Amino acid sequence: MRSYARSIALYEEAKRYLAGGVSSNVRFASAPVPLFFDRADGARLIDVDGNVHIDYILGNGPAILGHAPGAVIEAVAASLRLGQVYAAQHAPEVTLARRLVELLPSAELVRFASSGTEAVQLALRIARAFTGRHKIVKFEGHYHGWLDSVYVSVRPPTKVAGPADAPAAVLESRGQADSVLGDVIVLGWNDASFLTDAFERHANEIAGVLMEPVMVNGGVAEPRPGYLEAARRLCDAHGALLIFDEVITGFRVGLTGAQGRYGVRPDLTILAKAVAAGFPLSAVAGRRDAMNQIFDGGAMHGGTYNGNVQSIVAGLAALDVLAAGEGAVYRAMEQRGARLVHGLRAATRQAGVPMLVQGLPTIFETRFTDKPALYDYRDVAETDQERGLAFCQALQEEGVRVTQRGVWFLSAAHGEAEIDETLGAAERALSRVR
Ligand code: PMP
Repeated sequence: MRSYARSIALYEEAKRYLAGGVSSNVRFASAPVPLFFDRADGARLIDVDGNVHIDYILGNGPAILGHAPGAVIEAVAASLRLGQVYAAQHAPEVTLARRLVELLPSAELVRFASSGTEAVQLALRIARAFTGRHKIVKFEGHYHGWLDSVYVSVRPPTKVAGPADAPAAVLESRGQADSVLGDVIVLGWNDASFLTDAFERHANEIAGVLMEPVMVNGGVAEPRPGYLEAARRLCDAHGALLIFDEVITGFRVGLTGAQGRYGVRPDLTILAKAVAAGFPLSAVAGRRDAMNQIFDGGAMHGGTYNGNVQSIVAGLAALDVLAAGEGAVYRAMEQRGARLVHGLRAATRQAGVPMLVQGLPTIFETRFTDKPALYDYRDVAETDQERGLAFCQALQEEGVRVTQRGVWFLSAAHGEAEIDETLGAAERALSRVR
């Protein structure tokens, strides 16, 4: 057994000064306590007890180049003496915006912010201002940040979630204003008939349809063939904006995100996480006429840290690496990720356990189920989550760190050696949960 004695002691002390001992409730999801780390390098994290973890959480996505990526930290270090916040513009901000516009098929104008959560709120404001409507469609299982307007039906317990074809809108947090329920329509994802019905029921009321174009937070599932296209057509037919929350998929499933991978253009795109390889940067990018709502359309967007020097410099440096060699970084990641996925599947068959490995090479998940595939939150909610948790803990004992939900993020720093080590660890962990 690995020792976590120092993490346990630090957590006791942390609880005296930090609410719950953490800075984000997501971090409770770690055993035996929320762990404390001393440093991170490439694909590895070292905790305060000296345990080394091959890290497949990557800060929940951002560290696409691994931890402390040389090119990015050198660029940021060189910028530190230039200052941090000017409450004004600077040239690198324009360069990064231009590069995003050149890269992303749907982007004509960009606005920067710091977190995914706030960029989602900006996208909703733009959609409402542009359409003059209030209602937003969101999907069960999809996460768009912790704020009142969208923290709805993210992981609703099955007993309160209602029928799959008419899900209840369920508030996820105590202290949340229930007035938001009047403005949100919750639907099951990956079935265009639900969206068709919603547009019929709420003709001329829907400002935007917000989705993770590849579901990650409610279980990793790709869109069914034709689903994104159908959403695009329905939004066009009914005058609503299609909003892709690419906070996770952006710069992860490819240089042009899910919209490039599946060939469907949203009206607005939300970016964060991998866009600055670990530094706090988010963006909304989209159609000129919609984005101009925050220029001359009377809609407000502010933020002290928006476009701060270091986040922008990090974004530019990360993009230089990610875009080099016409996608070479992604080809290498996809190849290693595919080897990991196939290896996990082979180990699963060998162990004779019902574990499904589903998703894309750079973002996938392991779930205990007999089903051959999962398509939406309802499928995922029926999987054996206790066994999933046991597998996650067994992996941690073997030096591999994945999210408790079984989501694995891959980085460019995960080399062949890390993949081999991980597959060995997974074989041992699977034999423990057999
Ligand atoms: N959207 C998606 C799809 C996310 O996964 C997340 C974070 N996990 C957010 C929005 C919120 O981003 P942040 O944590 O940076 O506020």
